[in-house]
Amino acid sequence: MPRIPHRLLPSVDRLLGDPRLKGLGVDSTILKELVREVLKEAREAISRGLTPPESDQLVESVLHRALAILSPTLRGVINATGVIVHTNLGRAPLSQEALLAMEEVCRGYSNLELDLASGERGSRQSHVETLLCRLTGAEGALVVNNNAAAVLLALAALCRGREVLVSRGEAVEIGGGFRIPEVLAQSGARLVDVGTTNRTYLRDYEQAIGPETAAILRVHASNFRIVGFVHRVTLEELAQLAHQRGLLLLDDLGSGCLLETTQFGLAYEPRPQDAIKAGADLVFFSGDKLLGGPQAGIIVGRRTPIEAMRRHPLARAVRIDKANLAALQVTLLHYLRGEALAKVPVWRMIATPLQEVETRARRWAQAIRYATEVRPSLSMVGGGSLPGEGVPTAVLAIPGRGGWVTALAQRLRQGLPPVVGRIEADALILDPRTVPPEQDDDLVQAVRKALKAEL
Ligand SMILES: *Cc1c(COP(=O)(O)O)cnc(C)c1O
Repeated sequence: MPRIPHRLLPSVDRLLGDPRLKGLGVDSTILKELVREVLKEAREAISRGLTPPESDQLVESVLHRALAILSPTLRGVINATGVIVHTNLGRAPLSQEALLAMEEVCRGYSNLELDLASGERGSRQSHVETLLCRLTGAEGALVVNNNAAAVLLALAALCRGREVLVSRGEAVEIGGGFRIPEVLAQSGARLVDVGTTNRTYLRDYEQAIGPETAAILRVHASNFRIVGFVHRVTLEELAQLAHQRGLLLLDDLGSGCLLETTQFGLAYEPRPQDAIKAGADLVFFSGDKLLGGPQAGIIVGRRTPIEAMRRHPLARAVRIDKANLAALQVTLLHYLRGEALAKVPVWRMIATPLQEVETRARRWAQAIRYATEVRPSLSMVGGGSLPGEGVPTAVLAIPGRGGWVTALAQRLRQGLPPVVGRIEADALILDPRTVPPEQDDDLVQAVRKALKAEL
């Protein structure tokens, strides 16, 4: 290899002295690192026989990196997909009141773990426990970081080293790496498969019970449906069997739906209060699915197993943070006040009358002034509830050829604010049901801009 004229490159200090890199608002140590990175890459390029970059190009390159570092990557988007609880878009939006509670608790200090009456140490759980018991009819409640943690904690605290019976139709993957057999293995409990994928009978559970059995775990089919030649045992039957044989009945419900879904023309979604009534010892659900609150894992059920979970070392590792706890408390209060349909955004979206959605879709169409159509469609509940079920909706469709529609969708995603729609065969679909009306103008502007960029 010939000797390389690395000396042609400016020094770190010379680049740092460039006026364009002054007042950038980047920490000086970080800026120096960026300059070093850029120079290192330039040296490598030269070693590969490329022409040494001009000083100007090097400065530009540092600037580019600095700007990339400085702009936040996590930002709000407009969800026009029509999927109400969209995991990739952050699941449930919070009510105004829940946001205010979060802010208040995070802005200053709070009585998170202080009993104000006695001045003694209190429990963060006290802020939601009685609310959860009132809402579900359970004796006790415990809240942790998320539902995956709730299930893991229960299995570790109550079933470690022993057997847990799970129907073969329920030893499933919920998504994002949450697979029932793996969670069981992590907890130290042993999975015993029961029945078959499509049909599991009570006698299958009965025959699988042995001296090592600790619990029966039921897992709600959150994101799939087994249809046709199917048999499942009811929770009541399972509760009776479990209690006759001294076992715990654990019910992983997933979505935490406290309201009756059938009033919106949806299929019945099992509710925590129904599971408690049916005799489940512990019921698990997420805070940010159909409950419509913050990320949280909620456990309701009998006091004794809940106490055992509370005392387990994992409980501290998976505890809920104060911001989510504050939002959860206020979200639960919406249900206790009977105002969930009006205040909790996911329920407000589910309950918005078709007429209202259609009017907004027509308004969007008019304001966008392009060849669009308003079509009937379905909004999805999503988030591990009611798979395959939809709420009748009206969407704005922007028809076009495949490549064009894909490019339009990408431009919309990359705009500010980003707008996320969904692509159906021949059109980009935008569903007003999942867009708060106060974002209508932003959405219209974004779509007009994205369409114009294309011309
Ligand atoms: C969503 C879901 C989980 C995981 O809940 P996270 O709150 O996301 O951790 C577990 N079990 C079931 C049945 C679910 O639907």
